[in-house]
Amino acid sequence: MKKGDNFKFKPVTFDSATCPYCNNPINDITYALSDRQTGAPVHFDCALKKVGESENLASDEKITYIGQGRFGVVHYPDPRNVKQFEIRRIIEWEERDSHFDWRQKITDTFDNAQKSRD
Ligand SMILES: [Zn+2]
Repeated sequence: MKKGDNFKFKPVTFDSATCPYCNNPINDITYALSDRQTGAPVHFDCALKKVGESENLASDEKITYIGQGRFGVVHYPDPRNVKQFEIRRIIEWEERDSHFDWRQKITDTFDNAQKSRD
């Protein structure tokens, strides 16, 4: 790549993945999470649902993704004000720094693109 070239990410092709929770294909793997036991990609929504099922939520509590593989049980003191909430519990869905082949492929693509840019 010459300097000054317009920079483009190389397209990545993923093996088709099926979500083990709902048995539907995962079309957007960049939004996928991984199963706790197997590390296989699962739909974000399916993981969210599973967390909701395993937690006994009060009517004023909600599950929300708080980043880095963690979900939080949040409580809204005023349901009309979504800007104010408190996190009551944290559910570690994925271990921090855990590596999965399928996700590594995404990371590699961006890393390589960064390198070829310099
Ligand atoms: Zn699913």
